[in-house]
Amino acid sequence: MKADVFTLFPQWFDWFRTQRHVENAYALGHSVDAIDFRETTPLKWGQVDDEPFGGGAGMVLRVDTMEAALRARYDEDPVSVKERRRVIALTPSGRLLDDALATELAAEDEITLLCGRYEGFDERILDHFVSDQVSIGRYVLAGGELAAMVVLDTVLRKLPGVLGDDQSAIEESYSEALDGAPEYPHYTRPADWRGWAVPDVLLSGHHARVEEWRRAQSRARAERPLP
Ligand code: SAM
Repeated sequence: MKADVFTLFPQWFDWFRTQRHVENAYALGHSVDAIDFRETTPLKWGQVDDEPFGGGAGMVLRVDTMEAALRARYDEDPVSVKERRRVIALTPSGRLLDDALATELAAEDEITLLCGRYEGFDERILDHFVSDQVSIGRYVLAGGELAAMVVLDTVLRKLPGVLGDDQSAIEESYSEALDGAPEYPHYTRPADWRGWAVPDVLLSGHHARVEEWRRAQSRARAERPLP
């Protein structure tokens, strides 16, 4: 997968690229490029935003500066870029990120993520340049960078070979393998700590019974009311 992230803070992604699974993804030929859209603005002094028509607080990311950045990167009209690759704007009100969406995005060869700042995007960016809007939760962050990293983190770990053991990304919370339920509990050594004992079944060495217990725990967690 080639992921392009349009941001005003490309240096944030330097840290992201040092994460073990992201390094693994790079070693397998995947990449995350952070593109500073201030660098391609046709306006003076690196301007990318402006005051909202109609008044109000904050600044809005301009459609012309976003178009310049997308054109510089893809050498085509951004209206058609979204027809051949998913161009995703991070927005608080977008489609909520979940395991199904992460799986969907992990199947793409190329994706583009647009990180908003300030009051967000001029609506024409969302209407004309974007194929998807994705939210990481119903709250507001200062910018789209952390949201983009959350999306990329969950998407990259689904790519074959990126995790030490591919099974780790198959059977986990909200995955198809667990019918969308939360994962079952895990325990490791010591088997007893302060009288807090690990369930006997996990020490039994009986694979089928362990599997059955895990499935039952997972189902029970799905039925329990959310905290
Ligand atoms: N005025 C906008 C609103 O009320 O919906 C919020 C703008 S927010 C301060 C700036 C940028 O952060 C947004 O354009 C978006 O890119 C990003 N952002 C904030 N919260 C987000 C969330 N929950 N999920 C995804 N992106 C988010």
